[in-house]
Amino acid sequence: MSDPKSAPKTDPRTDAPAAGEAGPEQKPRDFIREVIEEDLRSGKHARVATRFPPEPNGYLHIGHAKSICLNFGIARQYGGTCNLRYDDTNPSKEDVEYVDAIEADVRWLGFDWDDRKYYASNYFGPLYQFAEELIQKGLAYVDDQSAEEIRVNRGTLTQPGKPSPHRDRTPAENLDLFRRMRAGEFPDGSRVLRAKIDMASPNIVMRDPTLYRIRRAHHHRTGDAWCIYPMYDFTHCISDALEGITHSICTLEFEINRPLYDWVLDHVSVPCHPRQIEFARLNLTYTVMSKRKLLQLVQDGLVRGWDDPRMPTLAGLRRRGVTAEALRLFCERIGVAKRDSQVEVELFEHCLREDLNTRARRVMAVLRPLKVVIENYPEGQVEELDAAYFPDDPPKMGYRKVPFSRELYIERDDFMEEPPKKFFRLAPGREVRLRWAYLLKCERVVKDPATGEIVELRCSIDPHTLNQNPADGRKVKGTIHWVSAAHALEAEVRLVDRLFKVERPGEERDFLQDLNPASMEVLPAARVERSLSEAAAGERFQFERVGFFAMDADSRPGKPVFNRIVSLKDSWARIAKAEAGK
Ligand code: ATP
Ligand code: MG
Repeated sequence: MSDPKSAPKTDPRTDAPAAGEAGPEQKPRDFIREVIEEDLRSGKHARVATRFPPEPNGYLHIGHAKSICLNFGIARQYGGTCNLRYDDTNPSKEDVEYVDAIEADVRWLGFDWDDRKYYASNYFGPLYQFAEELIQKGLAYVDDQSAEEIRVNRGTLTQPGKPSPHRDRTPAENLDLFRRMRAGEFPDGSRVLRAKIDMASPNIVMRDPTLYRIRRAHHHRTGDAWCIYPMYDFTHCISDALEGITHSICTLEFEINRPLYDWVLDHVSVPCHPRQIEFARLNLTYTVMSKRKLLQLVQDGLVRGWDDPRMPTLAGLRRRGVTAEALRLFCERIGVAKRDSQVEVELFEHCLREDLNTRARRVMAVLRPLKVVIENYPEGQVEELDAAYFPDDPPKMGYRKVPFSRELYIERDDFMEEPPKKFFRLAPGREVRLRWAYLLKCERVVKDPATGEIVELRCSIDPHTLNQNPADGRKVKGTIHWVSAAHALEAEVRLVDRLFKVERPGEERDFLQDLNPASMEVLPAARVERSLSEAAAGERFQFERVGFFAMDADSRPGKPVFNRIVSLKDSWARIAKAEAGK
């Protein structure tokens, strides 16, 4: 999608404080930055090197944005570097489609890895050598047990593990077997290489973890060069060390793997020993973030693709019209903590409104049109009225002309035949202000004789009230938006809403059962004001009184399509209340 309006005004690479600017007297923003500043102060490190290590098995989502902002943000803040590294040790689930999408997403978020793009698979050679080193030191052995036997013999939280009968093979025997594993002499799954650590360790991760397995799978980069693949725990720490990473920032579930991270680096001859620091991953209410579940939504056709505007993927958020700035703002607001928690999606929506409020032009669009005929306005007459794009500060975004004529459309919701007390919009015999135009009075209601449905309102205007109050001092409370019937463009409006209807999808039943059936109401025949005929896909607007919208890439000449980015108010609270009252 072409997206000129989202290009950052300031170069995001330089708008953060430069190295050292955080200053000694200024408190670091979070515990990770505290560690980093201490390491810089003490001279443990002269520079900061981080990495963002996605596995190319899915699209990036808003949780990854937190990790990207943290890793790239820290590098930028302290004048260091952040590498992009594909953690591609699992050949069967990975794909180049994902690699390309990941790069587009990181760049879009406003970050760059320059020439530091790496693949864990590039290290297969050195990793193999380090495995041989462990074998020669008597710290790794080839195990012939089946996966099931290994699992059972690993023990439990309360019971120590049982050593493998092959645990005491000699280094020479292990080396021979490992080389033959690599040469393809043994079938898949028949043998693994394990670290020889401690089968009685209270930390199950340390009970002789698997380092290599045999797997005849085609790898998206190394092809069929390897039939053995290193495990994540062996690969990740060595990759970090080979790249000279100083701080290896990861999510909390890796806390129990940290002793293994350190063990491996302590026992192979790598150039340095990065420090692993864990932080709480982002969880959002009404959202699923698991790549497996997101893939299922796409594969089962429950959404329109990875970039469906309801998806929490960066591609989806971008298509919905969310800006990179809003995402960075959100990531800054939520901060970084050590305890897992759930962030309310309302906070995200709040950041969207805050961001869009200052950048989106105000225009008029009628989602569910009701025809209005102004009986005292001459047929064929058209007035071009001035309307400010940003009424709070008109010079900021300028003006456009809005055509006014005898036949208009207003929002169906803005008329009630029998209005309740607090309804200040249009009703029979009542007057409202038409935005940027006249006072309008409803004289008569025209109904379909067969169905009783209201098809048209016959109205009048007070011609002396163009953008001014009536001379007789009568008060009019409501203002409504409208478009000229003859000039408006027909548009498809997609009312994007939360994809799930419960706070924690999947907590009480299969997550698919928690899908919100009203997550995207499509209004095929909305009407938008004439000025939008010049809009381009990706442009964002506030439809006055309705919400923030972005023009979708599905738009065709003469038939624009708009996605709702976020409503103006929290309509969800109201809907939930109404549901509860049923
Ligand atoms: P998988 O289960 O496939 O490993 P993952 O969510 O860990 O999924 P990765 O591609 O491995 O996905 O993630 C890349 C980086 O992004 C990792 O460092 C990971 O910790 C981080 N990350 C992933 N999800 C979140 C999240 N919800 N909040 C913060 N960081 C995240
Ligand atoms: Mg992962």
